[in-house]
Amino acid sequence: MKNIDHWIGGARVAPGSGAYFDDLNPVDDSLYAMVAAGTSDDVNSAVEAGVAAFRMHRNLPAAVREGWMFKAAEIMERDVAKFQEVLIDEVGSPVAKAGFETRFAIGFLRAAAGVPRRVRGETIPSDTPGRFSMSLRQAVGVVAGITPFNVPLIKGIKQSAMALATGNAFVLLPSEAAPRLADLLADLWREAGVPDGLFNIVYGNGAEIGDALTGHANVAAITFTGSSRVGKHIAGIAARNLKKYTLELGGKSPLIVCADADLEKAVGAALFSIFMFQGQVCMGASRIYVERSIFDDFAKAFAAAASKAKMGDLREPTTMLGPIISERQRDRVRSHVDDARAKGAEVLAGAEWTGNCCSATVLRGVTADMTVYYEETFGPVTSLYPFDTLEEAIELANDTEYGLSASIFTRDLDKALRFAHEAESGMVHINAPTLHDEPHVPFGGTKASGFGREGTEADLEIMTEWKWVTIQSATANPSGH
Ligand code: NAD
Repeated sequence: MKNIDHWIGGARVAPGSGAYFDDLNPVDDSLYAMVAAGTSDDVNSAVEAGVAAFRMHRNLPAAVREGWMFKAAEIMERDVAKFQEVLIDEVGSPVAKAGFETRFAIGFLRAAAGVPRRVRGETIPSDTPGRFSMSLRQAVGVVAGITPFNVPLIKGIKQSAMALATGNAFVLLPSEAAPRLADLLADLWREAGVPDGLFNIVYGNGAEIGDALTGHANVAAITFTGSSRVGKHIAGIAARNLKKYTLELGGKSPLIVCADADLEKAVGAALFSIFMFQGQVCMGASRIYVERSIFDDFAKAFAAAASKAKMGDLREPTTMLGPIISERQRDRVRSHVDDARAKGAEVLAGAEWTGNCCSATVLRGVTADMTVYYEETFGPVTSLYPFDTLEEAIELANDTEYGLSASIFTRDLDKALRFAHEAESGMVHINAPTLHDEPHVPFGGTKASGFGREGTEADLEIMTEWKWVTIQSATANPSGH
């Protein structure tokens, strides 16, 4: 049994409380690790370690930070099997999803290696004769990162790599369901050469100790990925304390299939968009709108494909669906489907449980009074809706508090571009799944799906700040004459 302690100031540190909590393997809820149950004192120690390390290392050359990123990519490539094993056993990732996460993380580290040399400012024309005026971008100090359970490696790497690449110290509060994966990051950054104290981890129940981190006077910026509920709470704390923040939150992403679309391609993309990692993906296409003339054909083909989506053995490369992360989440999935059924929705495929796994579930006849219509299920459940015109499809797609990703399948460029302009979402993909991410794009959502964007460009906004510096001659007449 693995015991996981905090990682503070370059050392594993037992929790002040002496208490540990259980980290379970979602396949059978067996005990996977015992994890330090942090307190606000532990959070304070981690932030203090970050402040001290930031002061000591803030002037390291860009080339050194660049080296950490390349080295970390190399190490992760060498240890890829170790990372994938933890993603499989700790959060129930099918190996295909675990492979996607490790590939993305390695790619992100390489992209982040380009960041340290781009933390730069400008020279600015001055209204005052003789004045040399410039702007500098400076690291903010300590960045706090909070990750969700579903993509703990992608988010743990995105957040920490950008904080370190831009010259900050970092404190991670990982999901209670993915602490062992976070623990691998401690060894990764240490071996990559990051000095003690620049990367810290404190474990514990986010609801109990999260505010101690996000509200800490020495935390300058917060990067959070998780539910909209917790995101809104964090935004309140950040606003009251004038901290910079980025929120990557939930979604109810629409996928639109027009009558002129390549049906086979649309079915395949829809399948991947909602059932990859058993629907536990923020960009999951949990609403599929299909033009009425092809609705029945699409529904038949999609339900047939969903029925064949493989569930179970996580180490089998073709498995798409694994276990739902926790009993609370399983209840949520069950209650959404039961409620829809009770109110008259038809189940075209799925809704069958094998242990902690729910099969790929397709609903039709879902109406606005059903919970699944508006709420994020975060499970392998999607609903099919017919539409008659593009205007109607856009209106339906936008009828949600969320706005993360959206897709449209059509061969008509005018329709595609109109949708791209009018979809109320942070990301739009034409003839492609709703699930997509690349290191350097402005990733994120609008409305209740987020605030700000993340990526190797966008993160500079919260992880650095501008300083205006002027130089004037020490001897010349201040008027410049
Ligand atoms: P969650 O909001 O329950 O938890 C996320 C993290 O927040 C956990 O580490 C938790 O400990 C912590 N937390 C809880 N209360 C806190 C507080 N008061 N202060 C600070 N931290 C606190 O989310 P989850 O169930 O782990 O993840 C699923 C959610 O995340 C879904 O809504 C999903 O759509 C979203 N998500 C979004 C993205 C994105 O990029 N937009 C990516 C992945 C997941």
